[in-house]
Amino acid sequence: MKERIYSIPLTDALNEGCDCVMCSLEDKLEHDAVDYFMGASKMEPDVRIMTNKKGFCRRHLHMMEAAGSPLGLALMLDTHMNEIVGRLEKKGKAGGLFAAKKNLVALADELESIIGGCAVCDKLKGHLADAAGNLVYLWDKEPDFRKKLENSKGLCLPHMLLVMRAASSELSGKRLDEFADFIVRTQTQMLETLNEDVNWFTKKFDYNNKDADWKNSKDAVPRAVNKLVSF
Ligand SMILES: [Zn+2]
Ligand SMILES: [Zn+2]
Repeated sequence: MKERIYSIPLTDALNEGCDCVMCSLEDKLEHDAVDYFMGASKMEPDVRIMTNKKGFCRRHLHMMEAAGSPLGLALMLDTHMNEIVGRLEKKGKAGGLFAAKKNLVALADELESIIGGCAVCDKLKGHLADAAGNLVYLWDKEPDFRKKLENSKGLCLPHMLLVMRAASSELSGKRLDEFADFIVRTQTQMLETLNEDVNWFTKKFDYNNKDADWKNSKDAVPRAVNKLVSF
């Protein structure tokens, strides 16, 4: 039996009426993951070997910077940068004389792999996949949760994808068919309505509509952005 540790935060997020229950949960999990690496774990040798190797992406390094612990961050950056310099030096030497172009390509590939890693993203990815499985489980087992999800504001597209992938391993047969119907129907409806709001927003800039009601379109652009790419 899988752990269902996200049942309470998912139910709470649903009851709060947020724009996407998974966004609400991800926001919390992301801060937890940043706190984890900024906290005591940074002094654990195996964690440090991992963060030295993976580093952090732009978004998460800026979040760590904003966490307000420059010494803690400096300790991690010190050994991580040491590793970067070592890797670049090693690749730089490997190309040999008269092989400048090959050398540059190899060096660029190495740099791409250095920049591409993020310890926070990797940690978060695992938690989010479990949370998406948990959401599908609640949809399957808790009629009240299912009803509330049906009447909720839906999911953003990145989280819709995550939940669809989770459903294909959590459910099978008739239940999976039912879930596919559910997700396609509710998400299409939500996107159509949002599209209408964005469309009306553009029409409001037509002189002929200047006195017309905004309807539900005043905040249509930020709502559409969040639904398309998450927060
Ligand atoms: Zn979302
Ligand atoms: Zn990241």
